[in-house]
Amino acid sequence: MQTSDLDGINNLLLRHDIHRDWVTIRLSSRAKRLIFKSSVIKGVEIVIPHAAKAPWVLEMTQKRIPWIQQAERRVRDGRSQLNPAQIDLKALGETWSVTFENTDKGRNGLLVSGDYALTVGLNPKDVFYAARNLQKWFQQKARASLIPWVASLAENRSLKYKKIYVKNQVSLWGSCSKKRNINLNRNLLFLPKYLVEYVLHHELTHLEHLNHSGEFWRSFSRVLPDCKDLRRELRSIKPDDIPLWASPGLDSV
Ligand SMILES: [Zn+2]
Repeated sequence: MQTSDLDGINNLLLRHDIHRDWVTIRLSSRAKRLIFKSSVIKGVEIVIPHAAKAPWVLEMTQKRIPWIQQAERRVRDGRSQLNPAQIDLKALGETWSVTFENTDKGRNGLLVSGDYALTVGLNPKDVFYAARNLQKWFQQKARASLIPWVASLAENRSLKYKKIYVKNQVSLWGSCSKKRNINLNRNLLFLPKYLVEYVLHHELTHLEHLNHSGEFWRSFSRVLPDCKDLRRELRSIKPDDIPLWASPGLDSV
């Protein structure tokens, strides 16, 4: 299989109205078999081993046309969430409306155009352009709200930490290190306020007890008597509940 053999596959997709915006085809020297896969972020991918014979690849792709059409639809629907009309920051009790504008030069990334209103540029050549600009805004928003929030809770409890980091992470809402640094997930802003307070108090309690020992929970319960119920509630929230535009990994596309 050579690059020139890809024309046949391209024509096949074209005949079935499969839009190439959502599909990547690549030749791989490492792939051992022909792979069809799809994800909202990466789109539909067809990975072809160099060693494969062109007529065979064409035949196999023909057989997978219904799957490719379905996957293409899923990617397209999923990606429409990249440009949300509204952003609900439950933790802060703020709802932002978002307007998208086509930019010829891609220079105006994002503007705060009024109270709770954002205007974001679209770049037709880059589907993740708007989401990345929203993420930059969101990161600043998270730092500006979470850092003073922890600071005031810590002061009320007379606890001292070293530094607070706000990150975009998948699996953890927060953590506290031996060096007394606190890491917070910026996606906390999508949770209700009382669950954010749970996470903040949880990490602050680690300044007293690093592990989850009985002493940790006793100390934590004195601050938040229903901390165990809140923990259960927090655990029922999956990372998938985070809007796609805010999810990690868009930068690496
Ligand atoms: Zn913990």
